[in-house]
Amino acid sequence: MEGPAHPLQHRCDVAIIGGGPAGLAAAIRVRFVRSHEALPLSVALLEPGPLGGLLRAGERRMVSGPSHRVDTSSLLAQLIADVERLEIPVVPRWVRTVDRTEDGAFVLGLHDGSSVTAASVVVATGSRRLAGELDWFEDGVYLTYMGISMLPRIIERALAKAGDRTVAIVTNRHVLRLRRAFDLHRRNFLYLVPPDDVEGLENMPGTVVGCDSWRIVRHDSDGFVLALALPGGTVERRVGALLLDYISYQAQPAMPQLRFPFDTARPGVPKVDSLLRSNVPGLFFAGDVTCRYASVTAAMADGIAAGFGAYAFAYEALFGTQPSLFAYRVNETPERFLDTELPRVDGGFRLEWLQKPPAGHALAGLSGLTLDEIASKSGLPQDQVLALIYQGIRDRSLTVRPPVESRKTGGER
Ligand SMILES: Cc1cc2nc3c(=O)[nH]c(=O)nc-3n(C[C@H](O)[C@H](O)[C@H](O)COP(=O)(O)OP(=O)(O)OC[C@H]3O[C@@H](n4cnc5c(N)ncnc54)[C@H](O)[C@@H]3O)c2cc1C
Repeated sequence: MEGPAHPLQHRCDVAIIGGGPAGLAAAIRVRFVRSHEALPLSVALLEPGPLGGLLRAGERRMVSGPSHRVDTSSLLAQLIADVERLEIPVVPRWVRTVDRTEDGAFVLGLHDGSSVTAASVVVATGSRRLAGELDWFEDGVYLTYMGISMLPRIIERALAKAGDRTVAIVTNRHVLRLRRAFDLHRRNFLYLVPPDDVEGLENMPGTVVGCDSWRIVRHDSDGFVLALALPGGTVERRVGALLLDYISYQAQPAMPQLRFPFDTARPGVPKVDSLLRSNVPGLFFAGDVTCRYASVTAAMADGIAAGFGAYAFAYEALFGTQPSLFAYRVNETPERFLDTELPRVDGGFRLEWLQKPPAGHALAGLSGLTLDEIASKSGLPQDQVLALIYQGIRDRSLTVRPPVESRKTGGER
């Protein structure tokens, strides 16, 4: 959660907020919509912590049944390999706000004051933002999960690890629902809650601190040293163990502040349709942030659907026509079956490299140029330049852009 050295202003076609299973699946899907003849769009993945979200909470995780067990560490390794292979830029910042400009583009405000602009956004922020604390999962960091019946056992584990030192409980106002379980152990609890949630929690036994963010500064045999960002500045506190209260967090998802009206299923919880679309054109929600069932498989399925939707939305905003995704959405009209997803690559488009060009590539260094300009600079005939462009599109290393003034962002749904 450290601030970066240089604020960035980043533009991309699709921005994905959150790098858990839902956000990873969405980002990969946007960049890998089809293996052939699909126009690649640019994507940015915003994640302040390590990639994987809650996938990192266990070694081997049962995903959907007693016989269907997925080794989550190899699943995570595969997802990260695809992020690297498709050269998806990971922006290590947390998103505080999401705004819309007059022409419908989204502007993401990041915690260091920088911003990312995108035609379409997938919010996949899960229950809370993570800052690497799961590196100590079950070794000083514990999670409340699997319903309230497990809670006493998890509290006991944290207390046993902490000995007579303080246990920090990272929670929110929904902790009141669990209060009885915590009240049984009237000692040494330091509740870290969002500043707005302090009111109403004054009577909790222990200490309640409203802090905007916190991070682990040190971990040693004597527990953790935490840096708490308080309204007046940062203070350090030593604690013997950390309890991340997911039961409370799952009651209220980790939404960035959306500065425009959007439909909610209940206060603070976004409403989506079966394709993960919100009522705001171009804005999708995927995974635990929708407060449906918390499951890796469900989160990834959401991410895939939202990724397709965001791709199609941004594509139409850029090129004024829907991509053909018929292999994935069979309800498309039959006459479109033979369409390619590629709009015509003619002189009006400009080349954009999405990955580092291979050394010595004839089109390296020619980003931003039109077909005519490339042909005259490279000395290659136009048909050869076009063949190289199509090859780059197929291997998803480059794309073409219409002139900026012809872009549009699509109407209300
Ligand atoms: C202890 C535990 C055990 C579980 N066991 C299972 C199981 O056995 N099987 C199963 O299928 N599921 C299990 N789950 C549930 C599963 O882990 C989640 O449903 C799944 O990880 C949700 O994925 P997600 O991508 O929606 O959210 P997450 O995994 O929570 O990822 C969200 C990401 O978004 C980031 N983020 C949040 N806010 C912001 C912001 N403002 N800006 C940028 N980034 C942000 C976070 O840092 C995080 O990395 C378990 C969960 C827990 C806690």
